[in-house]
Amino acid sequence: MAEYTYLLVFGFALVATIPLFLFLSAFSYPKNTKHTPKRKAKGKCPICGILLYQGQKVRSNRTEIADLAHYTRIKGCLHCYPEGKRKRSCPVCQKEVPIDEHVLAVSEPRKNPLKLMLRGCRNCYPEGF
Ligand SMILES: [Zn+2]
Ligand SMILES: [Zn+2]
Repeated sequence: MAEYTYLLVFGFALVATIPLFLFLSAFSYPKNTKHTPKRKAKGKCPICGILLYQGQKVRSNRTEIADLAHYTRIKGCLHCYPEGKRKRSCPVCQKEVPIDEHVLAVSEPRKNPLKLMLRGCRNCYPEGF
């Protein structure tokens, strides 16, 4: 008699937990996907290497020498300039780039003005400074 009651209680508990679990999972799944939207990176900061998303720009100065060459002086992104919270290093020589220094990139407007070719920092590309 006592064994029978135990089985009955156990069986009831099992039935009661299944709908509860389904109820919880139905609520938690859409929440999780909503809170972690997959953003696509737009590019990488050439100085600190962090991934940049839409609206996060890299600060730079551009000097145009007629239509022969465009010199772009890259100062850094919002993570490494002007406060320098992240380590700033040259993408060419890997040496540290001080906060008042920059990395030079050149584009050829006759070919493709949007294609930037990284030349380096003052240390590894002094002829551009
Ligand atoms: Zn950066
Ligand atoms: Zn360098």
